[in-house]
Amino acid sequence: MAKMTAQEYMDRESKYGAHNYHPLPVVLEKGEGVYVWDTDGKKYFDFLSAYSAVNQGHCHPKIVDAMVNQARTLTLTSRAFYNNVLGEFEEYVTKYFGYDKVLPMNTGAEADETALKLMRKWGYMKKGIPTNEAKIICCNENFHGRTISIISMSTDPDAYEGYGPYTPGFVKVPYNDLTALEAELKDSNVCGFIVEPIQGEAGVFVPDEGYLTKAYELCKKYNVLFCADEVQTGIARTGKLLAVDHEGVRPDVLILGKAISGGVMPVSCVLADDDIMLCIKPGEHGSTFGGNPVAAKVAIAALEVVKDEKLAENAERLGKVFREEFSGIQSDMIELVRGKGLLNAVVIKPKGGKTAWDVCVAMKDNGLLAKPTHGHIIRFAPPLTITEEQLREAMNIIKETFKQFE
Ligand code: PLP
Repeated sequence: MAKMTAQEYMDRESKYGAHNYHPLPVVLEKGEGVYVWDTDGKKYFDFLSAYSAVNQGHCHPKIVDAMVNQARTLTLTSRAFYNNVLGEFEEYVTKYFGYDKVLPMNTGAEADETALKLMRKWGYMKKGIPTNEAKIICCNENFHGRTISIISMSTDPDAYEGYGPYTPGFVKVPYNDLTALEAELKDSNVCGFIVEPIQGEAGVFVPDEGYLTKAYELCKKYNVLFCADEVQTGIARTGKLLAVDHEGVRPDVLILGKAISGGVMPVSCVLADDDIMLCIKPGEHGSTFGGNPVAAKVAIAALEVVKDEKLAENAERLGKVFREEFSGIQSDMIELVRGKGLLNAVVIKPKGGKTAWDVCVAMKDNGLLAKPTHGHIIRFAPPLTITEEQLREAMNIIKETFKQFE
């Protein structure tokens, strides 16, 4: 059978798939390290890394081997029975991040939902909040996923409009605003504060230095759980193992996803100490696939790669190179460059009808993939395995692309 053209692949998706995404017109069929290849054999730098899930690089051999070996032995038992690898993962991940307990799930949204339930349960059992009165504080412009409860926290109409009625019990405050946070924390029915240490989907908003520390201290003052959603910022992306590590904050509840599997399969989890985690009792929460043997082995391998290959250190060092090089680009389309480690964004000023989307299409034609968010922001987040030489080569593609718009 003749090979399909890129257009035919795209048309097929459009015909049979729901139209809930708007992809760049490129059809990928292979990935290795920082590169992906399209169906015509053209090679690209991947500067999205599946929204920071592929921090360890595409198809990392150690992670893929762990997956294949376990898949040949035992894939799923459900949690109705014990298995011989879940405990290995639980011990590994709790020691790795320094918590008493872990609750494994699959997607980021599920882990966020888990954290919300956990904080409410703690609020009733430990803080003494009257039944069904618990409140959770979240931030404007947050992104925590796509479930009904999670979009009930959203301030983005694209995320919430048309999906009501919404889950009650959420209080929204401006991000990076401690005064607004403290005003809400005073309500004795508040059990938790959920926050992204850097708002990724919103366009890589980095809060002021000290915001996380002070927010944590305020939570302690009012006996409220501080919950960090590190689904996107965690696992070395921002130049530390966790983004909260930049301020030495230890969240009461920590949410991880995406790169905890190196992008090989959906793995997520919530970490907390006994006092919090043991509020959930047998039968009260779970997931058929959460913590399955393949996921357990994959996550251990993926976390080992982060340490073995010093990915946090690499992200820290090369993030500086990225921002330095970017600030040197002369283009009136570049309004602002911001970020931490290898999670960066560039705010684009449209010019002559050309927008961030056009810049991304041109970068694609020149061999680099990145995706606009909120119309005018381009996020740049390559796999953390990228070398300085590869980064400089990628920067040349970016520079040349901006020149085309001058
Ligand atoms: N939380 C944050 C901070 C995210 O950035 C995302 C996804 O981008 C999620 C949660 C949701 O993760 P998932 O798409 O795996 O459900």
